[in-house]
Amino acid sequence: MYHSISDDPEPGHPYFWINTSPRAFAQQLHFLGEQGYRVIPLAEAVNLIRAIPSGGVSSRAAPSAREPQGGRGLDHALGPDRRNSPRYAVLTFDDGYRDFYTQAFPLLKAKGFPASVFLPTDFIGRPAAGLRGKAHLSWAEILELQRQGITFGSHTCSHPQLAELQVDQLRRELSHSGRVIQEQTGGCDGFCYPFQFPQQDGLFLEVLNQTLQSVGYAYCLSTRIGTVNTAEDLFSLKRIPINSGDDPALFQAKLQGGYDWLSGVQALKKVLWKA
Ligand SMILES: [Zn+2]
Repeated sequence: MYHSISDDPEPGHPYFWINTSPRAFAQQLHFLGEQGYRVIPLAEAVNLIRAIPSGGVSSRAAPSAREPQGGRGLDHALGPDRRNSPRYAVLTFDDGYRDFYTQAFPLLKAKGFPASVFLPTDFIGRPAAGLRGKAHLSWAEILELQRQGITFGSHTCSHPQLAELQVDQLRRELSHSGRVIQEQTGGCDGFCYPFQFPQQDGLFLEVLNQTLQSVGYAYCLSTRIGTVNTAEDLFSLKRIPINSGDDPALFQAKLQGGYDWLSGVQALKKVLWKA
């Protein structure tokens, strides 16, 4: 889960940064290629996840599921047979910042890596600074990127806290954004949830899932942290946040599942905050 590829300085703890420097990003792409990761389109990953049997992964299951488990050392986790199995990565970019066009895409193109960008449609194609004071992509840039294999999905219209909206507003954020992207690019099958995913709010998630499916989305990316090793709910797909704080060692640890334990902490923290 990338946001902005830029050297813009950011305040606060690195955990909350959304900028990845072009230099760190280039290093991360190099690492993926060097380590033999297959960087695949998101739609292909969704199909692989669909093929994972529920209740876990057997040795005959989809190869995408054979991600190593972190915590006890890579060699221990992989074992001799798993070390040779394919490992997949998907690159996603939230918020539709213009630096995807100027900074990220040239590096992706050089590697031949696909990527998906999620657009908050109210901010797209406007000259004024948008989210976090940054510039956003224009539709002309989006079409040019699309011709070169980049895919686009919805990240709402106005990037609101969806759980705070009335049901009709929620529906509009999901349906109108998707319709705009469909009209502009000819396709939009995925949705990406803005801000922290309210994974403890069962009632809201039920409404969200129903709305996403009735609008016609095939999947929803979330900010739940983790790699995908087992059958996953396609409407709350986990991701790994990446930013400038990820040096090669940390990037590697995250990819190998070293951060998956955080999803438990993330869920617990949300429960405690609610109490
Ligand atoms: Zn966002």
